[in-house]
Amino acid sequence: MGAPGLIPRAPENDSMPIYEYKCTSCGRVTTVLVQGYKDPEGLCCEACSSTGMKRVMSGANYHRSASDRLSSYDPASRLDDSFYRDTRNIGLHAEHMLKKAGVKPNDEFKAKLERIRTDPSSVIKDED
Ligand SMILES: [Zn+2]
Repeated sequence: MGAPGLIPRAPENDSMPIYEYKCTSCGRVTTVLVQGYKDPEGLCCEACSSTGMKRVMSGANYHRSASDRLSSYDPASRLDDSFYRDTRNIGLHAEHMLKKAGVKPNDEFKAKLERIRTDPSSVIKDED
């Protein structure tokens, strides 16, 4: 039994959750490092500065570094507004990540993806 209050705390800054926020005005997705579980303050769209941002849960974003995410995309051709406006691209990132990790998406995941792509508004809420 150790003395109370002397439990070493895990370092907090080795991995930070990354969330994507989708602009409700222009549909642009902005990637944000989030400290804790609250939405960051002063969040606004990097394209149109709208503050109507909704968190998008795409499943595979947790604890991914920004560089990991970037290297999985082809930044030259994909990371523009039209890519994000195309609802067929929703979830593509998550799919890539699963593939990279050698994980086969299960039926539930695929069904979810399909639903999101046909009805993008269904993704704009947390699903915990
Ligand atoms: Zn916007």
